[in-house]
Amino acid sequence: MAGLYGTQININALVKLLLMKEKMITWETVLAFCMRGNLLPDNRIEKNKEAWREQLTEKQYRITREKGTEPPHLGALCGIFKAGTYHCVCCNTPLFDATIKYNSTSGWPSFTQPIKMNAIQYHKDTSFGMIRVEVLCNTCDAHLGHVFPDGPQPSGLRYCINSEAMLLKTNKNN
Ligand SMILES: [Zn+2]
Repeated sequence: MAGLYGTQININALVKLLLMKEKMITWETVLAFCMRGNLLPDNRIEKNKEAWREQLTEKQYRITREKGTEPPHLGALCGIFKAGTYHCVCCNTPLFDATIKYNSTSGWPSFTQPIKMNAIQYHKDTSFGMIRVEVLCNTCDAHLGHVFPDGPQPSGLRYCINSEAMLLKTNKNN
């Protein structure tokens, strides 16, 4: 028994195990990230507040750097289902492929998986008296939105993302 509580599970080993089993991010994987830490991103982009303010519009800054939320059904990317890739508005890292976007009727762009396992970071968010999981860009820490366990199968996830946090690059414009 002595070693039971002292055992440290390596996050990468745990996530690897979960991903091997499911081959995708599921709610179980999301909770593992929240409890144990996130995967390392491919690269990091860090800027100070002034630099982000200069680069972003007021709305983009409020949402991505101050954890804001746009009103439902008003986001520019809400009803768009064109082929392409959704990138972080701050650092241009690809976050979601348009093929896994779906109409959740929630009023915000909704996805069932990130484009890459390490594209997104997950944090427990207890603001507004709720327990939710906040999702951020893993490259630049931009607040994107939240993920919920009420999405379509097979992942069962709904990434609920602010339009203002993303740029859609359609296949033609790539
Ligand atoms: Zn970013």
